Amino acid sequence: QSDVSQTDPEVYAALQSELTRQQDGIELIASENIVSKAVLEAQGSVLTNKYAEGYPGRRYYGGCGEVDKVEVLAIERVKKIFNAQFANVQPHSGANANLAAFMATVKPGEKVLGMNLAAGGHLTHGAAPNFSGKWFHALHYGIRKDDGLIDYDELEATARNEKPRLIIAGGSAYPRIIDFARFRKIADEVGAFLMVDMAHFAGLVAAGLFPNPMDYADIVTSTTHKTLRGPRGGIVLTNSPDLAKKINSAVFPGLQGGPLMHVIAAKAVAFAEAMRPEFKTYQKAVANNARVLADTLIECGFDIVTKGTDSHLLLVDLRPKKVTGKQAEESLERAGITANKNAVPFDPEKPAITSGIRLGSPAGTTRGFGEAEFREIGLLINEVLTPLAKAKDNDNSFAEKAVRKKVMALCKRFPIYKH
Ligand code: PLP
Repeated sequence: QSDVSQTDPEVYAALQSELTRQQDGIELIASENIVSKAVLEAQGSVLTNKYAEGYPGRRYYGGCGEVDKVEVLAIERVKKIFNAQFANVQPHSGANANLAAFMATVKPGEKVLGMNLAAGGHLTHGAAPNFSGKWFHALHYGIRKDDGLIDYDELEATARNEKPRLIIAGGSAYPRIIDFARFRKIADEVGAFLMVDMAHFAGLVAAGLFPNPMDYADIVTSTTHKTLRGPRGGIVLTNSPDLAKKINSAVFPGLQGGPLMHVIAAKAVAFAEAMRPEFKTYQKAVANNARVLADTLIECGFDIVTKGTDSHLLLVDLRPKKVTGKQAEESLERAGITANKNAVPFDPEKPAITSGIRLGSPAGTTRGFGEAEFREIGLLINEVLTPLAKAKDNDNSFAEKAVRKKVMALCKRFPIYKH
């Protein structure tokens, strides 16, 4: 009998249903993954109980001998993976990691230049409702209308005119490899710090399939839970001893109190997994599967922003199918396929509706789906979305039920968390 079922039957019931949802559904949210049982075990461990303000060897609490070992393992592993001289593994999330990078490089009111939210940037890169847009003078670059790629000329012109203190590369819905060398050149020309937020593609960097932003940036931030397949959390990396000091004091005591040592243990375990040869095989499959999904959807008449992908994610423009992102997300969920609506470049729809969906291959690839399965998934998406435009009162239940059955059959062949 599980302890949660005894103590709290309501939470237990939700946990069980969520497990079933994950087991029986196809997860295509690009920022999600399925962690190993080893990562889950580390995160659900007695390290939950420990206060450890400070850093290994310099704590404000007693009894930190074991958690020190764990944090040092996490730091040393992540440094090795990304060829970094310094790492802070304490940020509770990607947003916190970015906040720390800002605190180490810019003062309130100074200019920061990041990718537009609407073009695929992240909230923490200067969006109006976020701290980064409220406390800093946020400037933006976007993507080109004709090919959906970053408008490096616009970036360069804005940087030259405005002389930002910090330039940010990276985003949440950009499917292509970013030209870090061009960013570096622009940052050097205007005297700005360059920060790369590799949250989405960190796993591809770890496997050597994407250029390593550490070769170009002053600061690299990431989440640990997307392609990197660890627990939810953040990291900050740098090669500059001066920035390293500033980042440490920004994370603690600047922004956080006690680090989540159980999460740091899970990060250490995930980093160990990322150092194994199987991880490279996995990341190759992630990129290959995303490509297969994009090709299949193009065959079915969908538009894919930038006409494909280099990474784990793709952005589908649904306008040729005459459905919105919101309608598509809801209908797909009823069919057992989880994805998120997402604005496409120059989207005429409101952010709560959108004309696109963002799809990603990391979670499906973890459960073992390969090319054949991702092709099948593309066809299933088409089977749900093509009739949706003509569905009376949005009732697409005929297609949704038929696809739900096929989704169940596919998931049964690739079980997760069974033992
Ligand atoms: N940076 C990027 C590029 C992201 O895509 C995300 C999350 O989606 C974050 C930062 C924030 O991470 P978190 O949700 O852990 O705060």
